[in-house]
Amino acid sequence: MIEQQIEHLKSQALEQIEHATDLNALEQVRIDVLGRKGALAQFNLGKLPPEERKLAGKALNDAKNTLESAFETRKGSFASAALNARLEREWLDLTLPAPGPRPGSLHPVTIIQNEIEDLFTSLGFAVLDGPEVETEYHNFDALNIPPEHPARDMQDTFWLSNGHLLRTHTSPVQVRGMEKLGPPLRMIAPGRVFRNEEVDASHEHTFYQLEGMMVDRNVSVAHLIYFMKTLLSAIFHREAEVRLRPGYFPFVEPGFELDIQCLICGGSGCPVCKQSGWVELLPCGLVHPNVLRTSGIDPDQWGGFAFGLGLTRLAMMRYGIDDIRLFASGDLRFLRQF
Ligand SMILES: [Zn+2]
Repeated sequence: MIEQQIEHLKSQALEQIEHATDLNALEQVRIDVLGRKGALAQFNLGKLPPEERKLAGKALNDAKNTLESAFETRKGSFASAALNARLEREWLDLTLPAPGPRPGSLHPVTIIQNEIEDLFTSLGFAVLDGPEVETEYHNFDALNIPPEHPARDMQDTFWLSNGHLLRTHTSPVQVRGMEKLGPPLRMIAPGRVFRNEEVDASHEHTFYQLEGMMVDRNVSVAHLIYFMKTLLSAIFHREAEVRLRPGYFPFVEPGFELDIQCLICGGSGCPVCKQSGWVELLPCGLVHPNVLRTSGIDPDQWGGFAFGLGLTRLAMMRYGIDDIRLFASGDLRFLRQF
């Protein structure tokens, strides 16, 4: 009699286990049947005669073992279903080709700098590098710009508390080149320079220049003009309209302003050329004897020319960029065009 009840309970429980929809439901069935106060625990065998008690006890044990193993099996199937679902969700095909590096591009200033470096190295010039944090001596004094000189006001910069400064031009690399290499010397020095400027479409506090210098015997303005023309026709892939005006720079004598006809407006006037049709591109000239002497070169034996090229301005001309602020903006829509 009692064995039949146990058998009945067992088959009922097996069905519930089979139909449990998740782990929580399954656990509830386990508590109801196998728990300390569950259905199996309700059978009281104590009052049965010994022979019957033995049989009922065996049936009870059988039921308990069967149900426990059914629970474990069912529980395991839930776990592997959860694992399979997760594997499906997080599936990743490791045999697919990698996405690869994101296509990038060189900054327009870098493109032009690379081209000019290639050109000048082919003409026998060395490419030199100099510090962006300069001494006052290298940025001003050694270039014939003593403390009271008005050119210092025109090149207002950022001073450091230790008396050094952010270089206002790449010209200090001339001085370092002469100190280090001595004559004869052909060098260019591209790099970043800084001015304490009111920022607008044609002025930035940070921009790029390229300094060039040649020191040799019998260097004249003709050499200067030859190299400048070679440079500009290489950059613009055509004859660029230029004009030379006398210009005053403390470190050259005579000094010139080399202007290029505005390639954005073609000379008719625009914001970049300040409506003049011309853009100052190159201060240049023959190296001032004082500058040679300061760097330990005898001006009676040696002469030289020097020029400073606005790399950023050149990039604006070449690509028709009408706002200098775009260069350091970090705007990818701008950068991806190159
Ligand atoms: Zn213009």
